[in-house]
Amino acid sequence: MPNIELLQPASLDEAVAYLGTHAGETKILSGGTALVIMLKNRLISPLSLLSVGRLKELRSVRHEPGVGLRIGALATIREVEMSALVREKNPTLAQTFGKVGNVRVRNAATVGGNLSEADYASDPPCVLVALRARVKVNSVRGEREIPTTQLFKGFYETALAPDEILTELIVPEPAPGSRSSYLKYISRSSEDRPCVGMAVVIENESDGSCKDLRLVAGAVSEIPQEIESAEAMARGKRLTDSLIEEIARAYAAGIEPLSDLRGSSWYRKQIIHVMARRAIQQVMADN
Ligand SMILES: Cc1cc2nc3c(=O)[nH]c(=O)nc-3n(C[C@H](O)[C@H](O)[C@H](O)COP(=O)(O)OP(=O)(O)OC[C@H]3O[C@@H](n4cnc5c(N)ncnc54)[C@H](O)[C@@H]3O)c2cc1C
Repeated sequence: MPNIELLQPASLDEAVAYLGTHAGETKILSGGTALVIMLKNRLISPLSLLSVGRLKELRSVRHEPGVGLRIGALATIREVEMSALVREKNPTLAQTFGKVGNVRVRNAATVGGNLSEADYASDPPCVLVALRARVKVNSVRGEREIPTTQLFKGFYETALAPDEILTELIVPEPAPGSRSSYLKYISRSSEDRPCVGMAVVIENESDGSCKDLRLVAGAVSEIPQEIESAEAMARGKRLTDSLIEEIARAYAAGIEPLSDLRGSSWYRKQIIHVMARRAIQQVMADN
């Protein structure tokens, strides 16, 4: 690798100020699990790396009543998976992070790195979209929030400007009576990235009818996929087996999946159909 300057700012203000003047020529370094591979393969050649590892303020995992879980960008995937707080407040989130790669990857990889990398074959993005989570980003212009529904723009592309640092993930309180789940389908080794990921959130009325259904597939396209017309089929109705099957079929019909080493477009479409049905059935059974 060519000589690359390593910067290790001691505060967020320092990091943001550096990025304000060097955005085009530097890359942020968090856990390094994706970045180091990109460097080694010469896919990127920055002049400097801005390591955010010393920014302890970005590490916390806390819960703010009325707001939800606030997870610092530097929290590792493993810390979120193991957090008693996350397990209590949003078990689906902890379970999802527990499905990323293997324990060695989860110990190094960070929440901010996973979301900023925006690899289409990742586990957390579709779940965070279904949970209507948002991220906080900082730059010399101040801070702003981006809903995860608008964060992912394409293959390895996010709505972050080059001089912005992702600093926090905010996962809102689940609506009363809502349930969620994430199913990961793997077509190769047990530690592989998903062939299809399926996140579901269901909010029911007190009479048992469905108030809201959110179904978001990951790893099947450039960005997480949500088909509103299929979700709308559930509203105001009881989710019987036949309706669940109709929704799953309409949902799969609405997606044009990509083909890659993990599965062809045709194969993924069949899996999406099955996974959509199973994910809804599982949440209804838990209910
Ligand atoms: C063997 C292996 C298996 C894997 N399996 C899975 C899997 O099953 N599921 C899954 O979801 N993922 C999987 N991954 C991907 C892994 O989750 C990501 O590599 C990891 O989350 C990236 O986080 P990081 O902290 O290492 O980021 P880094 O490698 O440090 O950075 C990744 C990118 O994000 C940018 N970046 C980092 N932090 C920030 C920030 N705070 N603000 C703005 N930009 C930032 C960097 O500049 C870089 O472009 C796997 C990775 C490996 C190596």
